Amino acid sequence: TFKAVVIDKSEAGQNVGIRAFDEADLMDGDVTVRVSLSTLNYKDGLALTGKAPVVRRFPMIPGVDLAGTVEASSNPEFKPGDAVILNGWGLGETHLGAYAEKVRVKGDWLIPLPAGLTPLQAMAVGTAGYTAMLCLMALERHGLGPDRGPAVVTGAVGGVGSVAVALLAKAGWHVIASTGRPEEADYLKGLGAAEILDRSELAGPGRPLAKERWAAGVDTVGSTTLANALSMTRYGGAIAACGLAGGMDLPATVAPFILRNVALLGVDSVMAPRALRLEAWNRIARELDHGKLAAMTSTIPLDGVLEAGREIVAGRIKGRVVVEIG
Ligand code: NAP
Repeated sequence: TFKAVVIDKSEAGQNVGIRAFDEADLMDGDVTVRVSLSTLNYKDGLALTGKAPVVRRFPMIPGVDLAGTVEASSNPEFKPGDAVILNGWGLGETHLGAYAEKVRVKGDWLIPLPAGLTPLQAMAVGTAGYTAMLCLMALERHGLGPDRGPAVVTGAVGGVGSVAVALLAKAGWHVIASTGRPEEADYLKGLGAAEILDRSELAGPGRPLAKERWAAGVDTVGSTTLANALSMTRYGGAIAACGLAGGMDLPATVAPFILRNVALLGVDSVMAPRALRLEAWNRIARELDHGKLAAMTSTIPLDGVLEAGREIVAGRIKGRVVVEIG
């Protein structure tokens, strides 16, 4: 057996606790990994609290990110001792996940620990940070760069938001960080934000078109925040949408699309193809400032994830949280 956070479901609801898990009950896969570190993402908070139905089988071990060492492999790409990471692919949702000393997974889901990053740094980045890079890459693929005007980041103090602020600033963008935590202005400026915007300015029902304020954006909040961000986007600009921390709805009009040629770029990290992941991780290793990464990261033990899961869905987590496992 090995130690794991396990979510069980009964008539009364879901039950979460740390217990011994039988290795024989691991799911199919060609690589067994000894997990050293995981992280806390918004989705992990949803799974741990049961606030949204992200868990698709029970019992489930939550945790969508891992760093670890290959213990056994029948996949020719991996051999015992290899340092690897994994983000998404249904881990913690449909496949037994990372809040455990061991996982058994498809080798195709693993990527080698990116050169230039320690396991701790890779998990400080985690799904949240790798998604922030996917957003930046989507904006660039759309032809946008810092010469076109400012970029807004919503939910800026959160995990995706913090990494997005740092990456966009490093790429030369004038970053407008939208947050409900004005007391974290110095934190955001330390990551590279040029301006702080109170999130209440994007919260209410907005007009179809508003004053043009930015050429690009990374939105982690959804709902009216995304609708307002679109309505304030300059002619020809785009918003990369990756989150729903404020709601899954999108009370917008088509006005920004048809009158300002604005684009809404969807970003998914879970099923992103391997080549895109490798590119994103390579760029993270080269472009994300290690000092800024350390400044946005805190570390908790495995038995702290239940509490931290409640905190992240309440919007009270700052930056990124690494979970120590083995
Ligand atoms: P997080 O650390 O909790 O960040 C979310 C931030 O959103 C909060 O820190 C807060 O920022 C803001 N926020 C929270 N509740 C809000 C509300 N009701 N109204 C307005 N703003 C609110 O979570 P995360 O791990 O960074 O994830 C952020 C979002 O991205 C989540 O929805 C997550 O599911 C999504 N995500 C998607 C993908 C993908 O593949 N598409 C990958 C990773 C994450 P302030 O305090 O600064 O206002």
